[in-house]
Amino acid sequence: MLQGSGALSLVPDEVGRLGAQRVLVIAAPSSAEAALDLAAALAERYAATFGRPVQHSPVEVTAEALALAGEVRADALVAIGGGSAIGLSKALAGRTGMPQVAVPTTYAGSEATPVLGETEGGAKTTRRDPALAPSTIVYDPDLTLSLPRGLTLTSALNALAHAVEALWDTRASAATRAYAVESADGILAALPVVLDHPSDIVARGRLQEAAWLAGACLAQAQMGLHHQLAHALGGTFGLPHAELHALLLAHVMRFNLVAAPDAAARLARLANGDPTLAVASLASMHDGPTTLRALGVARDALREVAERVAADPYPNPRPVTADAVEELLLAAW
Ligand code: NAD
Repeated sequence: MLQGSGALSLVPDEVGRLGAQRVLVIAAPSSAEAALDLAAALAERYAATFGRPVQHSPVEVTAEALALAGEVRADALVAIGGGSAIGLSKALAGRTGMPQVAVPTTYAGSEATPVLGETEGGAKTTRRDPALAPSTIVYDPDLTLSLPRGLTLTSALNALAHAVEALWDTRASAATRAYAVESADGILAALPVVLDHPSDIVARGRLQEAAWLAGACLAQAQMGLHHQLAHALGGTFGLPHAELHALLLAHVMRFNLVAAPDAAARLARLANGDPTLAVASLASMHDGPTTLRALGVARDALREVAERVAADPYPNPRPVTADAVEELLLAAW
């Protein structure tokens, strides 16, 4: 892992170390300018840029990028952007074995996991394979300065959700729990600073460290009701990933923490009070949709989602019934 202000400039040396001769850059539209700088810095190692990654890695987009990789005889990938750019890089690496350098510009944490979610014909499948994990991660906080306030907030809460679910996973190791505590501490401390002072590079760097720790939690722990709801709702209604996680988290904490006293005590220490209220208060600061209703989900659809979730629940500290999930979803609606 390479980190620090200006770390983007270390990418050319890093791809050299990986033995790459022809780099395919995958760039989110928001990273177009940084991708141009990177292409110039890569010089003769630069092959091409694919600039249209899409959320949840649709296989048609992967096929397009794969064709470009073949045309330019790419032998390595550099992804610069949020979870969508990094997801496309993983999808290509999974099909070709190319090494990847990930340069995240949000706090989603995908770069730290060997997990890939892909969509085909509207259905999302997730797979886990060590070969999908990027070889190197470059955390340059300068690249997060352009994040709109809303995405800064929702993407950091998306990371916090990975850490919170690891804390109530009864099978998580002591190491994973330590990562989760450190991650939640970093997010709860640094996020309010970044919201008040968006150009605070030190606080943004701390959020990136917390995002890595959160990604490691996602990689190592069993995700529970929170991620199941995000997958079920996100997959069924095509909702924006970070906003959905951000609005659900406090509701799932309210439901689960009564059955997870150890997680509740640790989070209360970090939040210096009621952790559910702290997260709800952060989530309410979003300047975009903060309810399922505002995201366009119909009230009538909640029961069917609740029944589907309760029929095949992810491991969760509190038993899940369709009635309880419907009540939770109604509160989030
Ligand atoms: P994203 O990558 O979809 O980006 C959202 C929007 O923000 C895009 O328009 C992007 O161009 C813009 N953006 C990104 N960085 C920016 C910046 N610094 N400044 C301004 N705009 C910026 O959003 P995300 O929340 O990072 O990622 C969501 C995707 O990641 C989903 O597909 C999700 O499934 C996946 N994900 C995967 C894992 C995993 O471990 N597999 C973990 C978390 C998220």
